[in-house]
Amino acid sequence: MTYDFIHRSLPMRVRFAAGSRKHLGDELDELGLGRVLVLCSPGHHVGDDIVETLGKRSVGLYPHAVMHVPTEVAEQASAKAVELGADGCVSIGGGSAIGLGKAIALKHGLPVVAVPTTYAGSEMTPVWGMTTNGRKETGRDLAVLPRSVVYDPELTTSLPVEMSVTSAFNAMAHAVEGLYAPDTDPIVSLLAEDGVRAIAAALPKLVADPGAIDPRGEVLYGAWLCGATLGATTMSLHHKLCHALGGTLNLPHAQTHTVVLPHVLAFNQSEAPAAVAALDRALPGDGDPATRLWRLEHELDAPTSLAELGMAERDIERIVAEVTARPYGNPRPVTPDDVRCILGAAWSGREPRQI
Ligand code: NAD
Repeated sequence: MTYDFIHRSLPMRVRFAAGSRKHLGDELDELGLGRVLVLCSPGHHVGDDIVETLGKRSVGLYPHAVMHVPTEVAEQASAKAVELGADGCVSIGGGSAIGLGKAIALKHGLPVVAVPTTYAGSEMTPVWGMTTNGRKETGRDLAVLPRSVVYDPELTTSLPVEMSVTSAFNAMAHAVEGLYAPDTDPIVSLLAEDGVRAIAAALPKLVADPGAIDPRGEVLYGAWLCGATLGATTMSLHHKLCHALGGTLNLPHAQTHTVVLPHVLAFNQSEAPAAVAALDRALPGDGDPATRLWRLEHELDAPTSLAELGMAERDIERIVAEVTARPYGNPRPVTPDDVRCILGAAWSGREPRQI
């Protein structure tokens, strides 16, 4: 084999253990932070517990993070951080809470410490997103990359089973596209393969016993690895499609990733033999990981059609137009007709087929 690649490691600490949230104060001390604003989503009561655990190291709680970081919310949270004299933010929650911390970091340079409670993977990336008047703008900036990530599987036992399963498929989607990314490399491939292996092996155990810590830990560990592949590579057709479906039709993030993934993978498999081989090792099957993922969704009662997520069939054309309007990388060239076929299959939920 001839090696020819560029690998970039992102500067961050990761602390991983059941109960690790109790050491959040040590992480702040390590970073020299003593006045943090805690951010979480509404109704996710864990924010209050973290404020209590941090004691004097916390200056307050902002429990209003919502999906896709509306600009008004980012501005209100930023104003609160400035008013309270915060020297950093602790984002506890899923991609929404972490996204809000990133928005504040982008504007004021305040460091973010992330405590992820879903499997979305935002904590491992320097990618920020903000939504103004229904349009989501995204960008990359190392200033938004969390300085430290504290993974505590105990915090994920409250994540409802349906959300746990779809969020884990969201994580596996990062690994799938990381494996065939234009800028993938051998380290990314190791992370991606082991991430999918850990998640696929543990998800059935998680569904059978959602309160058990070990399967939660294995899925969270896999989500970390998959998130790292997202942070290290450029995503392709699958992420482009999900971005368009979420942004244009407001479809739910994790569920949309779950439904679309097997169909895009089936489309790309013929042009991505190394990715197929890695996924076949991670998801023992018959050389067709796209169908294996689709079957796993059925076994775990996950959503399998865009129709059941509320998408109208007539909206397929809007998404075809949006996805083909601007070029992006993908292992196989994509025509409008290809996108139409992929979306048609994902909309109806039929078994993925090579187009
Ligand atoms: P989310 O953060 O919106 O969380 C979904 C819901 O689950 C919220 O109501 C939240 O309060 C609740 N929740 C979270 N953890 C919980 C727990 N342990 N127990 C009970 N309830 C819990 O959803 P998400 O899927 O994690 O994140 C989606 C968002 O993140 C999207 O806006 C997406 O674009 C963004 N994202 C960004 C990146 C990036 O690299 N920038 C990567 C992935 C996702």
